[in-house]
Amino acid sequence: MSDDLYREVILDHFKNPRHKGTLELCDIEAAGANPFCGDEIKVTVKIEGGAISGLRIAPQGCAISQASASMMADALEGKSLDLVDSRIAHFRAMMLGSDGGTGAWLDEMEDLKSLEGVKKYPVRVKCALLAWNTLTEGLKEFRQKGAAGKVASEHIEKSGQDD
Ligand code: ZN
Repeated sequence: MSDDLYREVILDHFKNPRHKGTLELCDIEAAGANPFCGDEIKVTVKIEGGAISGLRIAPQGCAISQASASMMADALEGKSLDLVDSRIAHFRAMMLGSDGGTGAWLDEMEDLKSLEGVKKYPVRVKCALLAWNTLTEGLKEFRQKGAAGKVASEHIEKSGQDD
């Protein structure tokens, strides 16, 4: 793709963001900010059966941060958490690594490929990664909460036996 086409893809997602909004009933509610540019985002996620059944983004800020959030929602909604983890890792590798994207899925998703051009502007890489980093933090918290919940219920069962 040419630079012009890349720019067009990014602007299209910026002007017509996919999956915009917030989920009322959600398992993950994460907020992130990129002070270098003034970008902010809220990500809400519903998780069912080990997969992301719903993902909504509420981004504010520059075109790159908002377009990347829209593309992320496109790429991850409906996917299993394992696949979500590997896609986030591959996208980060594309943006931060020197060898470009390592996941074959990136070739299928031309839209996301358009963000690779952002690598030329290191300051903007933070913009492109904001939504992905915010979701990663949300997933981490969700898993910790899940683990804590398990420990709590095991503890209750144990103390029940003690009585
Ligand atoms: Zn930005």
